[in-house]
Amino acid sequence: MPELPEVETTCRGLRPHLEGARVATAIVRQRLLRRPVPHQLPQRVAGTTVRGVSRRGKYLLIDFGHGNLIVHLGMSGRLWLVDAATPPQTHDHFDLVLASGSAVRLRDPRRFGLVLWHSGDPLTHALLRDIGPEPFGPDFDGAWLYGETRSRSGAVKNALMDSHLVAGVGNIYANEALFRAGINPKTPARRIGLARYQRLAEKIRETLSLAIDAGGSSLRDYVNSSGEAGYFQDRFMVYDRADQPCFSCGTPIRALRQGQRSTFYCPRCQR
Ligand SMILES: [Zn+2]
Repeated sequence: MPELPEVETTCRGLRPHLEGARVATAIVRQRLLRRPVPHQLPQRVAGTTVRGVSRRGKYLLIDFGHGNLIVHLGMSGRLWLVDAATPPQTHDHFDLVLASGSAVRLRDPRRFGLVLWHSGDPLTHALLRDIGPEPFGPDFDGAWLYGETRSRSGAVKNALMDSHLVAGVGNIYANEALFRAGINPKTPARRIGLARYQRLAEKIRETLSLAIDAGGSSLRDYVNSSGEAGYFQDRFMVYDRADQPCFSCGTPIRALRQGQRSTFYCPRCQR
């Protein structure tokens, strides 16, 4: 499932091809994603020029000046550059066709993704305005995590996956960051002290940076926008490693369910 590193990788991969590019049209083959793709989208983008490409949390923002395309990859989406003449496959629901003859194509088998239009500042959109601080931004640190968790009795791992606390961290990187920080994922968030949160904040950034550097992770069929498979999955310390030996101490990695999601941790290294 795409998390911050995959969206950042997509953003960085598409940016040089999109910024300043003229748009020919948009093709909507399947409107029924998590929310319907707006009917007027092709008319809104045809003949315009892309001003910029950015990311907020797990949302990709394509700026047209008079509005933004807000794209979310959902559970299984990917967005990459193709020759516009490439025949679409079954799950290729959306193309942003450039005058150059290329197209940005969205493939999303499970259709939990989003392609929305928002006039004006995209950060004011209902889906984006309440997202917490970016992990690499100035507002995110151990003091923030500590302050925001004083009344949270739930497990720290579930807190990390709450986008109000920190943007873009999902199940995979919550597992990985907690391992690197030596924190048991079941620990109640409010029981963790400032020093441990400072270490956790540092490890969240470290984990995400490594994944971005590696070109995003590939769980099923993620391919970055230049068409190469991501490879950070080869470096997971705990994620999807149930019963395999911990790389640090050799203890078998444990798996459990927390809030409908899979948790993996080392019972010896993570206290
Ligand atoms: Zn261990």
